[in-house]
Amino acid sequence: MHYETIIGLEVHVQLQTKTKIFCGCSSAFNPDNPNVQTCPVCLGLPGSLPVMNRRAFRLSLKTALALGCDIARFTKWDRKQYYYPDLPKGYQISQYDLPFSSNGFVEIDTDVEKGETKKIRLIRAHLEEDAGKNIHDESGRGHDSHVDLNRAGTPLLEIVSQPDMRSATEAKTYLEELKLLLTYIGVSDCNMQEGSLRCDANVNLWVHTDDGQKIATPIVEIKNLNSFRGVEQAIEFEVARQIEDWERTHAKIGDVAKQTRGWDANRGMTFAQRGKEEASDYRYFPDPDLTPVTVSDEFFAEVKAELCELPASRRRRYRVDLGLSHYDADVIVSQGNHFTAYFEQVAKLCGDGKQAANWLTQDVQRELNSRSLSIDAFPISPAVLGDLLKRVAANQLTVKSAREVFDALLAEHDAATDRHEAVELSTALAEKIISDRGLAIVNDTGAITAIIAGAIARNPKPVADFKAGKQAAAGSLIGQIMKELKGADAKVVRQMLVDELSKP
Ligand SMILES: [Zn+2]
Repeated sequence: MHYETIIGLEVHVQLQTKTKIFCGCSSAFNPDNPNVQTCPVCLGLPGSLPVMNRRAFRLSLKTALALGCDIARFTKWDRKQYYYPDLPKGYQISQYDLPFSSNGFVEIDTDVEKGETKKIRLIRAHLEEDAGKNIHDESGRGHDSHVDLNRAGTPLLEIVSQPDMRSATEAKTYLEELKLLLTYIGVSDCNMQEGSLRCDANVNLWVHTDDGQKIATPIVEIKNLNSFRGVEQAIEFEVARQIEDWERTHAKIGDVAKQTRGWDANRGMTFAQRGKEEASDYRYFPDPDLTPVTVSDEFFAEVKAELCELPASRRRRYRVDLGLSHYDADVIVSQGNHFTAYFEQVAKLCGDGKQAANWLTQDVQRELNSRSLSIDAFPISPAVLGDLLKRVAANQLTVKSAREVFDALLAEHDAATDRHEAVELSTALAEKIISDRGLAIVNDTGAITAIIAGAIARNPKPVADFKAGKQAAAGSLIGQIMKELKGADAKVVRQMLVDELSKP
């Protein structure tokens, strides 16, 4: 007998609009000033009328297109009734039977080294309004609870997956990939600390018995997970708990009502919450205050044209066109579209994708981390780095010397910053460092020959030793010659010296 874990995720994404979905209130995150971003519409006062925010619809359509969903040309709004203190209207405006999109998928990496991927299918994506937030006194001394309605009415996109994930790691990878995609297309900041991206996980087991049966256990929904680590840990805990539960009760799906559980990150465990309502309990009906939405061909085409290249296709292109490894392509794409734009510019300028990838994932990344900078604020521009690496590719500069120039440029920047001055790290400055330090590889064979001749003339003893058969004697000569030549290719110099000494 063995167990298979079955996971589906419902992800909630706050869309990046200036105002709420059905009124003109600001949708900015503002927990320090509760209840200042409210009006009769989002407070649900009698007589107030909602008006749809077109930008919210546009961003959700853009997301659905990026996810490969089928788009409904006709979609409507429904009221989902339930009572909760953070929901002043007593219902949430959502989409029930006619969501604006369905199907679609997210492709995730299951093994980056081997390049193995898996498609997680989506059921639907629909648009709705967020509720407010209840704040409970957790000190244990008082008994106060407060409600902050700043968030009430913020546009929320709900993306529902099929139960296609088979482990906590897959669920975490799916969420990471979805977050990356959403930030690439710029529809949400996906700030998990501020609750812009959160999810509910539906988890149950398939029990494969020795006599070939497959038994599904009751589904449990874990609500409001707001970190990647939380998703992974909550699912792992829940799987272990459900196995124990199955062994004790042998309860199958349908035997008990669907259970809702919360996640206590401090104690590292899930706990039972209120029973989950069925759709019929919500008494959905079409909202009479809002007109249905029809998507015209023009609008559809306009939004489609706004889409940029998506992470999965970018990874593929880096591997196929630029020869990057699965791992390097993944590391670069995971850093977001500003980082990939920087990388592509460097790769294009130097004509060597692998070299550019090495520098970006090592030297540049290390400096960004130690300086706590984003790529936009990195003092060395892609033009300057690209030019430096072009010299390496053209055999005008060794990798070691390029690193010296890279460090020297950053030192110039740091020194100027200390003096409260601005300095432009230009290609010309890099060139000056190369010539001041004599780092350019001397490829002029005439110059190398002259220096070799000089060294031979000044050192009769090692020359005689070499001619007498002591190969090692060439070492001290090469040392002197390289000192004069600085960046020259040592292999070439050695060969030229040996050729010279071997002449009769
Ligand atoms: Zn409002």
